[in-house]
Amino acid sequence: MNNELLRINLTTKQISLEKIPESVVYSYVGGTGYITYYLYKELEPKTDPLGPENKIIIATGPAQGTRIPITGRYAVGTKSPLTNHFLDSHAGGFLGPEIRFAGYDLIIIEGKAENPVYISIKDDKVEIKDAKNLWGKLSYETEDAIREEQNEPKMRIICIGPAGENLVAISCPTADSHRNPGRGGLGAVFGSKNLKAIAVKGSSRPTNGDQEKIGELRKEYNARAKQAIDAGRGMNKYGTSDAVGFANEMSQYPTRNWQSGEFEEYEKVGGVEMDEKYKAMKRPCYGCPIGCSSTLDGSDFEWTEKKEIARPEYETLAMLGGNCGISNNETIIHANYLCNQLGLDTISTGSGIAMVMEAVEKGLLKGEEFEGIKFGNDEKLLEMLELIAYRKGIGEILAREEMHKQLNIGELSI
Ligand code: SF4
Repeated sequence: MNNELLRINLTTKQISLEKIPESVVYSYVGGTGYITYYLYKELEPKTDPLGPENKIIIATGPAQGTRIPITGRYAVGTKSPLTNHFLDSHAGGFLGPEIRFAGYDLIIIEGKAENPVYISIKDDKVEIKDAKNLWGKLSYETEDAIREEQNEPKMRIICIGPAGENLVAISCPTADSHRNPGRGGLGAVFGSKNLKAIAVKGSSRPTNGDQEKIGELRKEYNARAKQAIDAGRGMNKYGTSDAVGFANEMSQYPTRNWQSGEFEEYEKVGGVEMDEKYKAMKRPCYGCPIGCSSTLDGSDFEWTEKKEIARPEYETLAMLGGNCGISNNETIIHANYLCNQLGLDTISTGSGIAMVMEAVEKGLLKGEEFEGIKFGNDEKLLEMLELIAYRKGIGEILAREEMHKQLNIGELSI
């Protein structure tokens, strides 16, 4: 690691490089540690999460880019508009390593751009670019447009869709198409800063540190991972989707707004059936031999032209599946795809929709706009995702932060 902090102020357009003090590097180590340190140090109490004074911090860890198993992850931190509290959300994929390859350990974004922008980082060339033509676009269109504009087909991109632009409290950025730091309304913080995307391309590889020792560790952990995989342990085969059966067995699979922990149709939801039916392809995070992550063959679905689409993770199969009474795995795969495109957190979205389904079924919510909303209605589930992202009808209520505060954790304020 280089202890490099890249700071970008969207109000002043100032871009600067700082050294992370060694005491901070050793005391806070990386990821969540850095986020905790810098948010505590730099945010005033009572900071408005959607105000220009809030910050977005993207932090990598010390072993980032070394290909030691499971180290290719990164964390994004901010003050959450959903909880009004500390937020760090983690993701895998390739963005974390790419930030390191561009020469940075930590990126802090502050202020608010006057008009929509995206940030382009190519090694030490960092630019704030006009994104007026991208505003309103879905995530995948945004990724394609930036790669084309930059003439960089392999640029790693984190961007928001309409939900983040519309400051939806359960929105999230989409990264590497489906490796999202999903929690806490991070998408709305991007949106509040008029920040559509961050695109990164790096050309160096980390060479500092004891390379011999790093090589030994990589070998040792790769061997351990292989041993576990050969013994049939871990999530190498079906990823986290395999947890559906286990959770159901333990009466812990969210069912119909958590009215039960057992779903009678759980076997249809994920795991073996989904992988075989839709020809799963392994797509591990950078340097990870476990490879729990896969994509599915897009040609099986008439609602997308993409060749590969994300296989939903357990949390999505739970919250947009059993928790909404949905057992048709194509519907859950489609809902996951729409959440990635619109920029919605699948966990909070499924939780909110399930709550509405139960309230309607119990006669607590009545009226035309609630017609047909019930557990197991695939069509309504998909329809509600768009309503939330564009804050229309019932979606407007689910897009508000007060709604989820009451649902989940009560009001917190720091
Ligand atoms: S492939 Fe799975 S186990 Fe490996 S780093 Fe990514 S999320 Fe973790």
